[in-house]
Amino acid sequence: MEHLIRIEHIGIAVKDLNAAEDLYARLLGSASYKREGVESEGVITSFFKAGPNKIELLESTRPDGPIAKAIEKRGEGIHHIAFEVADIRAEMARLKEEGFTLLNEEPKPGADNKLVCFVHPKSASGVLVELCQEIR
Ligand code: ZN
Repeated sequence: MEHLIRIEHIGIAVKDLNAAEDLYARLLGSASYKREGVESEGVITSFFKAGPNKIELLESTRPDGPIAKAIEKRGEGIHHIAFEVADIRAEMARLKEEGFTLLNEEPKPGADNKLVCFVHPKSASGVLVELCQEIR
C-alpha cells in the first residue's frame, strides 16, 4: 500500500497575492483557477494547475498569522509540501508511531475541499509537510 500517494501541491508564502498571481500566471502559462480564504488559518489562497500537481499561493490576512510569521522569519518562498493520502487518520497514526510530531491531533478543514494535517518541520528535515485528503 502506498501511503503518501503523490505531491498534491506546493504551498508558497507570498506578501502580495495579486502580484504573485500575475507572476505565477506568467510563469506557468495559465491563470489561477480559484481563490479561497481559510479563516481559521488567517490566509487567502490562490490555486494554479501545473500538470497533475498544483501550486498554492498563500497570503496572510492578519499580522500574527502563520504565513505572516513564516515570511517574517524566512521571507517569501516555499512554505510547505502537501502529499495526498487516502486515509488521513490512518496516516496520522502511522506517522505518530514513526516518531513524527504532528501539528494538529485531529484532521482539520483546509482549502480546496480537503482535510489536512501538518507534520512539524523539526521532525521532517526542516520541511513543513501537509497531508491532505479530499473530502468526498
Ligand atoms: Zn497546502
